[in-house]
Formats: sequence, structure tokens, C-alpha cells
Amino acid sequence: MTHETEPLENVNPAGGALTVMWFRRDLRLRDNPALALAADSGTVLPLYILDDEIAGEWKMGGASRWWLHHSLHRLDESLDGGLWILEGDAEWELPDLCARLPVRKVVWNLSCDPWQRRQDEAVTSALRGKGVECVACNGSLLWPPRESGKQDGTPYAVFTPFHRNLSRLAPPDPPAPAPKALQVAACPQPASRIERLGLKPRIPWDGGLEQRWRPGEEPARRQLRSFLAGNVENYGERRDFPAEPATSSLSPHLHFGEVGPRQIWWETHTAEPGEGRESFLRQLCWREFCHHMLYHHPQLGDENWRSEFDRFPWRDDRESLLRWQRGMTGIPWVDAGMRELWATGSMHNRVRMAAASFLTKNLLIHWRHGARWFWDCLVDADLANNSFGWQWVAGSGADAAPYFRVFNPVLQSRKFDPQGEYLRRWLPELGRLANRRIHAPWEAGAAELRAAGLSLGRDYPEPIVDPGDSRRRALAAWQAMRQNQSA
Ligand SMILES: Cc1cc2nc3c(=O)[nH]c(=O)nc-3n(C[C@H](O)[C@H](O)[C@H](O)COP(=O)(O)OP(=O)(O)OC[C@H]3O[C@@H](n4cnc5c(N)ncnc54)[C@H](O)[C@@H]3O)c2cc1C
Repeated sequence: MTHETEPLENVNPAGGALTVMWFRRDLRLRDNPALALAADSGTVLPLYILDDEIAGEWKMGGASRWWLHHSLHRLDESLDGGLWILEGDAEWELPDLCARLPVRKVVWNLSCDPWQRRQDEAVTSALRGKGVECVACNGSLLWPPRESGKQDGTPYAVFTPFHRNLSRLAPPDPPAPAPKALQVAACPQPASRIERLGLKPRIPWDGGLEQRWRPGEEPARRQLRSFLAGNVENYGERRDFPAEPATSSLSPHLHFGEVGPRQIWWETHTAEPGEGRESFLRQLCWREFCHHMLYHHPQLGDENWRSEFDRFPWRDDRESLLRWQRGMTGIPWVDAGMRELWATGSMHNRVRMAAASFLTKNLLIHWRHGARWFWDCLVDADLANNSFGWQWVAGSGADAAPYFRVFNPVLQSRKFDPQGEYLRRWLPELGRLANRRIHAPWEAGAAELRAAGLSLGRDYPEPIVDPGDSRRRALAAWQAMRQNQSA
């Protein structure tokens, strides 16, 4: 979207200089340090710039774009229609806007994504060259990455000491309320400016997302409050059972910054003390750790953290990749997760691990293919968490699960979904199988299958690989990699 033709007079009826609040992944008014700073400086011009090129291969996926569309609408409403939208390279768009308006300062919140960090530098130098002040704040992490490193300034690569160290730091800054008297510049852009970004899918496949999610700051707040008033108590015990709504479902809200981690941290600390609360905060620290890792290792999304995996004998098998993506591997635990992902833009963490393990180990397909599929389908697609999660499962990451730990999808399914409730929700064709068979339908006898109205190969696939044989093949591939390395 260009702004060539927009008249820019009367943008600031109060007169005087403007401060641009450059929203990125901090789409909220509360606990937004950059916005608070902008509000203290006078009239604020709130701006979002959609830049589709800068992230290269990590351009926002379809589910994230759907979320962003709604989140921008909610933010615009809370700014009384004052959100400016631009499209293009911020390195050009921002200085151009500042040249056309009396802008004194541009403020934003920092991100750990490598392209945003590169862009921050370029934008800062372009703006400072034009005499515009730039301020970047920490709004997306509990502690800025430099503060959560080791005392000698080097980063952590193992979660446990990282986590231990966090508890020695001073508590994160308390969240600030939304600015009281936010004076917003008039926005001359057409009401259709968010629609014109074309973020919603052209062919509507988003019905499941509409049903499952409510993007925006207010829904995020309600979600946090209801979780803290209810499910947090049993979070530690129940968080691994995907049929239950036992986890917070805050990840997309956190990714888009509709809620900040400090808000979660402080509200959780003021909730009833208990084991569930501690366990929940520990997961929030995993997020912190993933971002710490990406900050210090910007290539985490593209390169093996353990370089020996550069020699791993991955298979190039498009057919199996496609069946995995469609939830048609014939392994119910994996297929249920993949179908949940397609339908809702999310997948339970326990199943994410198993689906990723199945792809990288039982099918020997490179983790990057899985990470890219997740990137396109997840509403919470986040470079730090996704890359770390994939490399953790594949064994190529820092502090990763050892390669020989191959998740057994049948045992996992029996343990975490004993009644097959989750499986039946996503695989209705297996609905009439007995609980003891639903986790591994190929073990059922002909009469059992007939009674359940199921024909394997017709109604539901035969397993794409035998879980036991493919596990042995994975371990052999890993041994081969290690021998290559020592040769
Ligand atoms: C292969 C794989 C890919 C993943 N990709 C993503 C991703 O793209 N985006 C994403 O946000 N998470 C990702 N995760 C982590 C985790 O699965 C999700 O954060 C979690 O399922 C979100 O659900 P929740 O909000 O109900 O989490 P809760 O259990 O309620 O946890 C609270 C918050 O803590 C953070 N968190 C929880 N678990 C993890 C974890 N293992 N790593 C990092 N942060 C965590 C999330 O921000 C989450 O919202 C991935 C995990 C794996 C194994």
C-alpha cells in the first residue's frame, strides 16, 4: 500500500512534533514499554508495516497471516481507528514517512528474530541520519537476552542452569498499565486499509481457526485470567493430556504480543501458590530460553546447532512427507496431531513432539521440512520456539533430546490418551474401535476391524512404516553419522 495520495495535513490537530509507535509483535496497549514512552512524548502516530520480503524463507505463514489480520483489527479498534498501515520495507517506509511529517522520535519493542535485528540497525541508521531519535525497548521477554546470560557475558546452551540463573535475577519489571491519556494522531487512510493487506486466505480454509481462536488483547487477557482461575492448579499433572483443555493456549497471543510475558509472570505470581503455577512459569522460561538461543545463534532456524548433523543421511521422500502433512501416516497419534494442526492452527505440545520425532526419526526426513510445515500451519509459529522445538526433537539442537530417544507413538498414545478421546476427535473413522485397539489399529484382528466398520487401506491407511523397524533404521543412520564423523 502506498501513501502517495494521502493528504497529510491535519494529522496532528494539537500541533507540535509526533512520535511514531512502530508496532511489530507487540499488538497491545498494556505493558507495552515502547507505547508508554511514546505516550509520554506527546501525540503518537501508531503504525504497523507489513513487510513480506524481509524474512526471506521465513515469510509469515497462512495461519499467522489470518491471526495478524484479526489482531490488527482489534488493535485499530482500541486506538479508535488510529492505526496507520504501510506495506513494504521499513528501512524505506519509515524515513519516508518521517520526511513528510513532523516526526521527532520513533519507538519500538525489540525482537530476537535475526531479520528484525538487522532491520532495526538499518532503520536506526537511516532515521538518525535524518535527525530522528530512535528508542528500542524490551517488551517481549521477561529479561533482555543480554541480562539473562552467564556472568562472563557468554550465553547459556543448557536449560537447567539458564533457569536456575533466572531465579537469581531481580524480578522482571512490573507491567505498566495502558497509557491513560493516549493522544493519537488522525489517520487519513481508508477504513479498508487492513483488508487491503490481503492477509485473510483467498480460498477460505479458516473456518476451524475462526471457531477455535479469538485474537486480540482483550481475548488474551480473558484467556490468561480464566486459566489462572481454573486450569493452572492441575497444570503440572494434566498438561500432557491433549484431550483436556489443561494448558493456557496463550502461545499465539504471546507470539503476536497481545499479552506480554511480564503480565503473565506477575499475574501468575499473584495467583494462588501451588505446584501447577511453578510448572506453568517453568514453561514460560522455556520460551525465554528459546529466544535467548535465537538471539545468540541467529542461524538456529536454518542450520543444525550440532554440526555433526550436517552429515546425517536424511531421506528425500516427498510422498511420505505429504502423507505426514495430511495426517495419513496410519499412526493414529501422529495423524490426530497433524489433523488438529490443519483444522485449528495448533497442536498440543506432547503431540508436536511425537509428530516431529516420527518425521525426523521414523521417516528420516530433515527437520527443516517439518519446521516449514509447522510455520505455515501454526497460529503461534515463532522462529525461536519452532526452530528450537524441532532441533530439540531431531537431536541436532542445543540441550536436545538424544537422537536415540525415539518417541514411541503407540505407547505415548496409550499413556496420554488412554480412552482414545483425542484420537476419536480427530480421526472419526477410528471412532468405533475399542480403546485397546485404537492406538494401533493394525494390531486388531479381522473380526474387530469388521465390527468397528473399518477396513485398513480403504478407510484409514496401513502404517506407512513399522514403528519398531523404522526406529532401528533411525538408530543405524545415527550410528553411521557418528562413524563418519570419527573416520
Ligand atoms: C516441534 C515443536 C515445534 C514448536 N513450535 C512452536 C512454535 O512455533 N511456537 C510456539 O509458541 N511454541 C512452539 N512449540 C512449543 C509448545 O509446543 C507450544 O508453545 C505450546 O504447545 C503452546 O501451548 P500453550 O500456550 O497452551 O502452552 P502452555 O503449556 O500453557 O505454556 C505456556 C507458554 O509457555 C511457552 N512454552 C510452553 N512450552 C514451550 C516449549 N516447549 N518451548 C518454548 N516455549 C514453550 C509458550 O509461549 C506457551 O504459550 C513447539 C514445540 C515443538 C516440540
